[in-house]
Amino acid sequence: MNILNRSDLKTRNCLSYFEIPEWTQLGWVQHAFLTRQGGVSLPPYASLNLSDKNGDPKAWVAKNKNLTATTFGFDPKSLILLDQIQQDQILLLKSPIVTLPSPLEFDALITNAPNRFLGILTADCIPILVVDQKKKVIAAIHAGRRGTALHITLKVLKKMKDEFGCSSNNLLIAMGSSISSCCYEIDERVFQREWEPFSTSRGAGKWMVDLAQINIDQMKRKEIKEEQISWINLCTHCHHDLFFSYRKEGQTGRQLSFIGILE
Ligand SMILES: [Zn+2]
Repeated sequence: MNILNRSDLKTRNCLSYFEIPEWTQLGWVQHAFLTRQGGVSLPPYASLNLSDKNGDPKAWVAKNKNLTATTFGFDPKSLILLDQIQQDQILLLKSPIVTLPSPLEFDALITNAPNRFLGILTADCIPILVVDQKKKVIAAIHAGRRGTALHITLKVLKKMKDEFGCSSNNLLIAMGSSISSCCYEIDERVFQREWEPFSTSRGAGKWMVDLAQINIDQMKRKEIKEEQISWINLCTHCHHDLFFSYRKEGQTGRQLSFIGILE
């Protein structure tokens, strides 16, 4: 597994972000896992908040979106952001894309269309980006507790196979920062028995859960090898200077992770 940490943080035009070096070398993929740093929003959304659904004025969010698009060289209108309803619905966008559905109540999207940038917003959940190196197909996934319980990542990999003939061998998968097992406690009511190998019981019906490792385990059980996976292994709750964390802050912003195919 290719593990990234704080020393891998990059800066462009005052925006701090992570990228997967192997993916940049592909030449046709544009991607980044942004942090909360470098935007214009004020506390509690300081500063690079890309969500206009949590109380931050839309004008500031639009500025942040333009700043991000300009920094990474794409048209802000080509960034597709989902409503993200913590389910397992996948939006399939086959080229050529004519119109987008409305509302965009999905938690993952897959495309082979160039110049569309698939964005995932998070503040503790896991943003997961996928590339098929041979078929030139990409995907972006929002995997929180509920998405992980619904095996959303595996459903996306299956849909890539069914719709585009993608093969597990050719996939590269990158997981962004999320809340780690150090800080993520959940209740017995929502705990899944299959998570036990990656969880620690705290007693009184409470579990500390490692959602990232659970997703990695799910992928490995579907023929994804560790060397195909990159992981920014930083807890959003512990590193809240760098990331928005819903558990840490409650009312806060959302950081963007995006991927697009360059023409
Ligand atoms: Zn932590």
